[in-house]
Amino acid sequence: MRRTILLNPGPVTTTNSVKNALLIEDICHRESEFITVLNDIRRKLLQLAGANDDYATVLFASSGTGAIEACISSLIAKDKALAVINNGAYGQRIIDMAKRYQLRVIELTYAPELPLPLAQIEHCIASNPDISYLALVHHETSSGILNPLRELGDLCSKYSCGFLVDAMSSFGGADIDVIRDHVDFLVSSANKCIQGMAGMAFVIGKKSRLQACQHVSRSYYFDLYQQYQTLEKTGQLSYTAPVQIVYALQQALDELLAETIPSRIKRYHTNYAYLVKGLEIRGFKLLTPADRASQLLVTVGFPNDGLPYSFTELHAMLFQSGITIYPAKTDNNMCFRLACIGDLTCADIETFLQKLSQYLLTVRQININIK
Ligand SMILES: *Cc1c(COP(=O)(O)O)cnc(C)c1O
Repeated sequence: MRRTILLNPGPVTTTNSVKNALLIEDICHRESEFITVLNDIRRKLLQLAGANDDYATVLFASSGTGAIEACISSLIAKDKALAVINNGAYGQRIIDMAKRYQLRVIELTYAPELPLPLAQIEHCIASNPDISYLALVHHETSSGILNPLRELGDLCSKYSCGFLVDAMSSFGGADIDVIRDHVDFLVSSANKCIQGMAGMAFVIGKKSRLQACQHVSRSYYFDLYQQYQTLEKTGQLSYTAPVQIVYALQQALDELLAETIPSRIKRYHTNYAYLVKGLEIRGFKLLTPADRASQLLVTVGFPNDGLPYSFTELHAMLFQSGITIYPAKTDNNMCFRLACIGDLTCADIETFLQKLSQYLLTVRQININIK
């Protein structure tokens, strides 16, 4: 099998050992051997999040959005409101989802270019006691901005407001501690910084708040309380588990625990520094604000020299050589996104940069010939 370099923000390049974990003997998901694996995963996720016994892990067989939907559909009581910080596409997605469930949503929409106005957000929470949860996207994967988790957690704690965090593309690749950061619910999935396969998502939630959401969910499959109860009582998921994906997740968690989160963050940041330097040397514009950059993903624009660069062409050329790059959220052929998460090192980034140079040369060559 060819090893590919995925520079899209998940699913990511995985290790051979994670891929090999998929190949296991057939087993029914209700067997105690499998329940042991689920329990192990739930415990390891708590450990990685810095959680104690006040928290529990609720697993869902879905992509990450499913676990977000479980929280949105299950946490907000009828007479309460949800405030959502929206400075990117994933913040907007939470708003859209909440509206679909006909929740009362307080939209705190801000330009991604500017730092979040914390005083304004505080004023909103302080003056709206109906808000039972504040939702935040920790790493806005649409732009590469890291939002201030700790500051907003402190704020929620100050006003006893629930804090719901979409940590999809940051968990495992950024410094998160649910207790220190006052996170009541953290949502993430197997296939980003955890470096597992797509198909499993999870919620790490405060038990007291999980208890409080009985009979609240507007969704059948994504009923957070019901899934929590099934897991606690039987160790099983309510519905069929993607067995092989779960084994791969267990392997990926073991590898993350062995590498440790601080070392993984360091590896990602080193990849990022290498990538960003290589891009700047080649004349690319970095569009993610440096002071708020996650160092996990960058939005870039082609050099401003009037030549007809094209994301579509570059993507096609790279894909042939086993490298995947990712479009920008805005439908713009002149900029794109590059993530440096997954089982990647600077050697992989260098391979990409070499190919990128080839592409730039080709475009320049063609244009010299035309002139
Ligand atoms: C990837 C991502 C999601 C959702 O992911 P799916 O697995 O595609 O459902 C949600 N929020 C953020 C911030 C993400 O990066």
